Amino acid sequence: MDGPNDRIPIPPRDSFNVGLSACREQTMLSKFGRPGQLTQDCSEPTGDFVSRVRRDLNCGPFKITGLDYACDSLKQIFGEVKVASPAIFSATKTAGMLCVRSRRHNPSRYSNHSWGTAIDIYFGSKVVDQGLNLTNRGNFYLAPLFNRHGWYWGAGFSGDNVDSMHFELADETIFKMPDEAL
Ligand SMILES: [Zn+2]
Repeated sequence: MDGPNDRIPIPPRDSFNVGLSACREQTMLSKFGRPGQLTQDCSEPTGDFVSRVRRDLNCGPFKITGLDYACDSLKQIFGEVKVASPAIFSATKTAGMLCVRSRRHNPSRYSNHSWGTAIDIYFGSKVVDQGLNLTNRGNFYLAPLFNRHGWYWGAGFSGDNVDSMHFELADETIFKMPDEAL
């Protein structure tokens, strides 16, 4: 039987992320400022945006630490998942949200995890590594919901950057987000 842990090919790029773009570093820097040191592994967040970080918030299947708007959005998304598909809801796992660090394949730029507006999601016993043209069936199921709430799916990244466990608030969504804390 098909299950959320299955690994399946990433669907055609034009079938998701419609009208949504990966969030550019410049958009994040102009909106929130520098989030901390540009380290290879997670380092302590610093700067004004820290006042907007929510910690250990229950969003349904797991607890999250991230930007206020992103956390509220995830609570909405998983509120919908719980009703539409309880099996997916209870099987969803996260490999992390807020983490101030550089991008894996571009050490001179911040990952969007640095501001807590990206989350890594997986099913089963281990994540689908970046660079593989595969996705957990669960992520494939969740992608349209995330897209509807203004999140870009990392399965759309090109080449070695493809990252199907990764979802981030899209460039368009960050632009429309209020500047004040929620
Ligand atoms: Zn990620």
